[in-house]
Amino acid sequence: MIIAMHKQLLLTLADVRFVTVGCQHCTTKVTIDLKEKSEYAEKFNILLANQCPGCRKNYDSAVGHALTALQQACDALAAVGKYISFQVVEENALSSKQ
Ligand SMILES: [Zn+2]
Repeated sequence: MIIAMHKQLLLTLADVRFVTVGCQHCTTKVTIDLKEKSEYAEKFNILLANQCPGCRKNYDSAVGHALTALQQACDALAAVGKYISFQVVEENALSSKQ
């Protein structure tokens, strides 16, 4: 007998506040607040510095472009975001013999 448990989490873009970026060179992770931009983000109009604060190597430029696109999507959908939701499904299958 197999019992499958499905946990679902619904979220809207309005719920999305923090995004975490992992460095492809080391284990450093940077969490960015999409709602309250840092002074750095405001000053340079970018969400993420070019270099990882851990190893000082450059991030893949695609990461910065993707974050900018995400920020623009969040801003553009802010007014209607509550009508658009995402569904996260965590599957956890348990099995037992009877
Ligand atoms: Zn790094």
